[in-house]
Amino acid sequence: MAKIDPADEAQLFATIDRWVEREVRPRVKEFDHADKWPAEIVEQMKELGLFGATVSPEYGGLGLPATTYAQIVMKISSVWMAITGIFNSHLMLALAVEKFGTEPQRRHWLPKFASGEVRGGLALTEPNAGTDLQAIRMTARRDKGDYVINGTKTWISNGIEGSCFALLVKTNPEASPRYSGMSLFIAPKGPGFTVGRKLEKLGYKSIDSGELIFQDYRISADHLIGEVEGRGFTQVAGGLELGRINVAARGVGIAEGALRLATDYAQLRQTFGKPIIEHQAIALKIGEMATRARAARLLTLDAAQAFDRGDRCDMEAGMAKYFASEAALENSTESMRIHGAYGYSKEYDIERLYRDAPLTCIGEGTNEMQRLIIARQWARRNASA
Ligand SMILES: Cc1cc2nc3c(=O)[nH]c(=O)nc-3n(C[C@H](O)[C@H](O)[C@H](O)COP(=O)(O)OP(=O)(O)OC[C@H]3O[C@@H](n4cnc5c(N)ncnc54)[C@H](O)[C@@H]3O)c2cc1C
Repeated sequence: MAKIDPADEAQLFATIDRWVEREVRPRVKEFDHADKWPAEIVEQMKELGLFGATVSPEYGGLGLPATTYAQIVMKISSVWMAITGIFNSHLMLALAVEKFGTEPQRRHWLPKFASGEVRGGLALTEPNAGTDLQAIRMTARRDKGDYVINGTKTWISNGIEGSCFALLVKTNPEASPRYSGMSLFIAPKGPGFTVGRKLEKLGYKSIDSGELIFQDYRISADHLIGEVEGRGFTQVAGGLELGRINVAARGVGIAEGALRLATDYAQLRQTFGKPIIEHQAIALKIGEMATRARAARLLTLDAAQAFDRGDRCDMEAGMAKYFASEAALENSTESMRIHGAYGYSKEYDIERLYRDAPLTCIGEGTNEMQRLIIARQWARRNASA
């Protein structure tokens, strides 16, 4: 299991804090409001090693434990959640290759992913299938030493700026159960793989969400992760725990960022002769927000610690993702209300957190599904004799 020396971890956190304050905070509004790809920030994230954060050192990554990684995501997300998506989704691609790829696949792809030389993400969702992934229609047909892929993916993070994706397809569309006919490919951009439109969004700006179109896209069979057909669904599921810890950490960041903005504002803004934090109605909100943010942080670290120990943590990661994303939504809404009219202004930061928060309730499994997963696992672990 990945480990880090506490002194190295403290140094890493200090570096991230400094970078966020010097480079990200001063520029976030400019990028977010223009929905502009933050090229300079991406270069800095490369230098910080974030594209290889959870990739093993033997393949050029930092090999960080989930607890360290989650805290980095929290720190960045408290200022600008969207940019964590640029390396989060990319690391899900890297995880699939490291966990399920063959050794030659690992040696070929992981150093390029870890350095950020090749960046990408996870391409699962299709126009007709998100939650019900087994309903996807994209097919890969074997043709001698190649596969020929046809279909459309949508909502793919980094779809336009990225160049390589973990692509979920059906190698046997007739298979029963449906998941047994699914496979996961490493799909670099090339002939037959084109980008459709960039999707316009409420928030989560600057990171591109794209539609990816595959028309007779041909790749050699050594792009099939693990080089055995029919394992794609299991491989995707194998990344879900870390993926959910990621999203939980983003939720914690937003919940804490919204709390900090509300606390600062409520101490400065005066009505009826005193700072609004001294009005009980506002103090009650701050008390609830602080408790929610802390509970979200502790649940997320609990799930990350279980992950780092190698324990089964689907329920813990689901609880963290569900709770932290709802905390992000509630804290950003309450913080906006505390800001009064200024919360509705594009000059203040809270409007961005308010627009970004809902995504955390959708990504890596909607919160409706999280509760079903938690209940199922809870019942299994507490089965009556
Ligand atoms: C900004 C953004 C970025 C994204 N990035 C990526 C990406 O990088 N890669 C990728 O592959 N996908 C990505 N997605 C897609 C995302 O994973 C899906 O939107 C998500 O899985 C939900 O699927 P859906 O939108 O098709 O909703 P649906 O599956 O159609 O669900 C609609 C509603 O029904 C509920 N529902 C569905 N089934 C059940 C059930 N059995 N029981 C109870 N309720 C149910 C859902 O919770 C939801 O409320 C992204 C989405 C967004 C918005």
